Amino acid sequence: MVKPVSAIGNNAAPSWKAGVARVVITPQERLWMAGYASRDHVAEGTLQDLWAKALVLEDAGGKRCVLITLDLCGIPKDMSDYIRGQLKLKYKLEKAQIIINSSHTHSGPVVANAVQNAYDLSQEQTQKIKSYTDQLSKQIIQLAGDAIKSLEPAEVFTGNGFARFQVNRRNNNEPFLLIQPELNGPDDYAVPVIKVADKSGTIRAIAFGYACHNTVLNGYQWSGDYAGYAQLELEKMYPGSTALFFQGAGGDQNPLPRRTVPLARQYGKELAFAVEAALSASMKQQSSHLSFAYSEVQLPLNAPPSKEELELMAKDTSAAYKRRSAIHLLQQINKGIAQIKSYPYPVQVWKIGEQSLFALGGELVIHYAIEIRRIFGSDAFVLGYSNDVMGYIPTAQILRESNDKETGYAFYDPANHDAVAYEGGIFTQLVYGLPGTWASDIEAVILNEAARMARIAGVARAVYK
Ligand SMILES: [Zn+2]
Repeated sequence: MVKPVSAIGNNAAPSWKAGVARVVITPQERLWMAGYASRDHVAEGTLQDLWAKALVLEDAGGKRCVLITLDLCGIPKDMSDYIRGQLKLKYKLEKAQIIINSSHTHSGPVVANAVQNAYDLSQEQTQKIKSYTDQLSKQIIQLAGDAIKSLEPAEVFTGNGFARFQVNRRNNNEPFLLIQPELNGPDDYAVPVIKVADKSGTIRAIAFGYACHNTVLNGYQWSGDYAGYAQLELEKMYPGSTALFFQGAGGDQNPLPRRTVPLARQYGKELAFAVEAALSASMKQQSSHLSFAYSEVQLPLNAPPSKEELELMAKDTSAAYKRRSAIHLLQQINKGIAQIKSYPYPVQVWKIGEQSLFALGGELVIHYAIEIRRIFGSDAFVLGYSNDVMGYIPTAQILRESNDKETGYAFYDPANHDAVAYEGGIFTQLVYGLPGTWASDIEAVILNEAARMARIAGVARAVYK
């Protein structure tokens, strides 16, 4: 006897709902641009519009999460806390349910209280930036609401693509790159992709990431850099879709060579084609179940430099931002203002069906993505620059290379020391407004917390046999 086909087939399985929304956030005013301390005037025009985009997923049990992606250099804790506080009031979304990721474009505007010592801003600019930031926060809150309003039945798929235009900027010397036959790592080429399709299979949203600074361009035109081009390209390839870019652990990765619009376009197309390859391959369809976990773990900081050291640093002739940062901290110490000894660092894990996603704060270096994927499986998604961009997040090794003159400098060409010292060095901390370097257990603290959040979200470790 032929066994009857069950009436409850796949089609009757409880499904996802998804909503997507977008809004242009290109400043209307001529604002100061974020990312490079060396710029000496405000933006001159627009190469591409900047966007804020939101993707909301709702599982079969009615649980929701929202991914908000911003074509911005980074947003600080106070702005993120305000936005997330409002999303809780208006839409009952907890911090665990919200990821706010910045693409780290260096062709976007400065936002208030971000990398506060990098720029020499006039009172007028400071005021304009404050108005822009207030308006932007309102737009982002509205955006999440718009995405929720557009919730419709959907199917969710995930997969990884690959792209290789990033270069480990610490361990390769940019000026010599074209005559350097082999590149040094560590690297991570993953292009994580989330596809959201409607019931007819039409793609509504493509959320995708890459771990690489958006620093092809350093001019005076607003743009999302290579990630801006990648989003435009994907939206052309899949008409009616919204493409959302999220930054990965690209803290020590640069798109090299760089500095021309054709190169930004090239890398954008490369990334879009990597996403297209992932979309065209067999992606994993995810069951309609969401779980999430979030915490803020205290990351210990070393003591600030002494007054004598700061006085010396305040005379550094190599860059104005270094002097400004040292003077700022010196003034605070002279006023008797107590300095923080640790920082509340956001660590978040989502599980979308069986897909794990780790979202960490700050300018996360690539080592963290490699370690998380080693522990939780090579298909885990790792985002940096999420929820709060408070500074660089180096490893113990980078800290040692950046700060230990006895052993660190010796590994490298002293002429290239500034590059080596950058991600873990004291000036990089001071420019962000942090009073000291990270303590050497930073890596253990973050990875332990990521593992703890993974347990809460129900993400299993990889099993190697
Ligand atoms: Zn950066």
